[in-house]
Amino acid sequence: MADNDVDLFVIGGGSGGVRAARIAAEHGANVMVAEEYRLGGTCVIRGCIPKKLLVYASRFHAEFEDAAGFGWTVPHASFDWTTLIANKDREIARLEAAYGVTLAKASVKVVKTRAALLDAHTIQLADGPRLRARYVLIATGGAPSYGDPIPGIERVISSNEAFHLTDFPRRVLIQGGGYIAVEFAGIFAGLGSHVTLIYRGENILRGFDDDVRQHVRVEMEAHGIRVLTGCKVAAVDVASGHFMVRLSSGNQVPADRVMFATGRVPNTAKIGLKEIGVEIAANRGVAVDEYSRTTVPNIYAVGDVTNRINLTPVAIREGHAFADTVFGGRPTAVDHTNVPTAVFSDPEIGTVGLTEAQARERLARTDIYKAMFKPLKATLSGRDTSVLMKLVVDGLSERVVGCHVVGEGAAEIAQIAAIAVKMGAKKADFDATIALHPTASEELVTMRKRFASFARMAAE
Ligand SMILES: Cc1cc2nc3c(=O)[nH]c(=O)nc-3n(C[C@H](O)[C@H](O)[C@H](O)COP(=O)(O)OP(=O)(O)OC[C@H]3O[C@@H](n4cnc5c(N)ncnc54)[C@H](O)[C@@H]3O)c2cc1C
Repeated sequence: MADNDVDLFVIGGGSGGVRAARIAAEHGANVMVAEEYRLGGTCVIRGCIPKKLLVYASRFHAEFEDAAGFGWTVPHASFDWTTLIANKDREIARLEAAYGVTLAKASVKVVKTRAALLDAHTIQLADGPRLRARYVLIATGGAPSYGDPIPGIERVISSNEAFHLTDFPRRVLIQGGGYIAVEFAGIFAGLGSHVTLIYRGENILRGFDDDVRQHVRVEMEAHGIRVLTGCKVAAVDVASGHFMVRLSSGNQVPADRVMFATGRVPNTAKIGLKEIGVEIAANRGVAVDEYSRTTVPNIYAVGDVTNRINLTPVAIREGHAFADTVFGGRPTAVDHTNVPTAVFSDPEIGTVGLTEAQARERLARTDIYKAMFKPLKATLSGRDTSVLMKLVVDGLSERVVGCHVVGEGAAEIAQIAAIAVKMGAKKADFDATIALHPTASEELVTMRKRFASFARMAAE
């Protein structure tokens, strides 16, 4: 099409948009990306990467404590938040620059501005000209949502601001029960804050396996995090130099910082989508088919803006599949089943496949294998903690359809277990695999006892 400036215009330079742009360019397309904030998007700038760096920081304190049982005398350790944030920012800036280099090498042009659609082929840059594109990819991600307005909501921060606090808060109140809330509770507590986690539902981590939810809650509480469920924040008042948080239960909690991690909404507003006929689904994401195509044939959408599975590797896979489909002559649908996921809480969760409740709902027969035990390291450190391992098995096909781990290294274990689950491995394949000793994950290939109920076991 001679009247087009580019073959592909990508709105959003995050995980999905950058991968799609690079692969489309490698397929020979002339590509431009608009990014209104910083290249790399949520994952790199204010999501997975900075969060994991803070998680690492938060775990040293426990390591120092544990060292004593192994004969170490660790002098009084002190922590400096300003150093951590400065070092984290330096690494994020390096990664952001690397994204720019990658795109430049692929001959993708980047414009650092906001973009919106005027029609299916015309893009308006906020501080620049209009452009014509043969295809448009919406990869605008999502943003924190604060829920219903309450008095004092302007005093509340989200995860975005938590990464840039100038002072370390001694008392933090976090509202939310999802993975971001739970992870930040662990981060602040590990670094020395008194943390209160407020969640309106009956238990945190909705959607995860019930044994996992209960186990993590008990462990978090044992590690000093106050978890209050069945209530929510009603107001955030100012009280001489700090905040006083009023709860729906009538209680009041003083805090130096109040953070809400109450979900995220897809960034679909003010980019012209509705006006040009791009349908928005009931879950507020852009409606797409299995090839990430929207209701307007030359417009596609990938990543969090589609609100399918909001994880970086999923956005990357969707962006890659889009580029292969449209510019590589290889129609590729993304398989969204058995996506492994982690919660970098204290203790950590790694999981893939069905929860016990999902399996019982979907399968004719479900077999459960689980083990809870004190990790070897805790025998000398004296730390009061236990590991949970659980396999959910389809009782008829004998396939392992779910694997759930809570404890040190859980995320790393889940990534590898996901290969077996994805391949359709049976419980007998796990059993036939010789254990790697001494590890925690050897439990996954040595579990023989079947459980019938959700009941939490006592640690052996
Ligand atoms: C605190 C936190 C922790 C997380 N931890 C993990 C984790 O451990 N593991 C994991 O897999 N996932 C994690 N995620 C989720 C992960 O970050 C997202 O799933 C992923 O970044 C989605 O990629 P995306 O390309 O869809 O969107 P994004 O990465 O959000 O990129 C969208 C980009 O579009 C830009 N943009 C928006 N509108 C416009 C416009 N009109 N014009 C120009 N640019 C625009 C934005 O500035 C942004 O850079 C975390 C998220 C958060 C918030």
